[in-house]
Amino acid sequence: MSCIFCEIIKGNIPSNKVYEDEDVCAFLDIMPISYGHTLVIPKEHYANIEDIPEKILSKLILGVKKVGKAVKDGLGAPGYNVCENNDPVAGQIVPHIHFHVVPRKHNDGLHSWPQGKYGDGDAEEIAGKIKNQI
Ligand code: AMP
Ligand code: ZN
Repeated sequence: MSCIFCEIIKGNIPSNKVYEDEDVCAFLDIMPISYGHTLVIPKEHYANIEDIPEKILSKLILGVKKVGKAVKDGLGAPGYNVCENNDPVAGQIVPHIHFHVVPRKHNDGLHSWPQGKYGDGDAEEIAGKIKNQI
């Protein structure tokens, strides 16, 4: 099965690369949320955060850290969002794990998700369900 990000790594699909090392590659998102929106990916194909071995995930997150600093210093962004859409229901379209680094500006009009409240006893129940799996 062909993967668009594997093709980018092989150089078969053009991209604007900003960083590359032995395990990690970073390039501009083709449809940026903001200028400088960068995707940081492992060179080996893994679908999501559960699949990727811890050693490579560690290198990947260090790549995110490098890109984040470069976005701040290079573009003068006062901050940025780091996001990984994990699985299609969470908005993952490309099944090759990638972290989005999205440069932010003050009053840029990008709003975060709406937040809610737990009903009585729900937080304890939900926390228990998660805790039991770790
Ligand atoms: P996600 O929804 O988290 O899977 O994000 C996939 C991202 O890949 C989207 O933001 C797309 O704009 C981006 N994308 C898709 N094709 C390309 C490409 N050829 N070069 C750069 N970014 C791409
Ligand atoms: Zn791939």
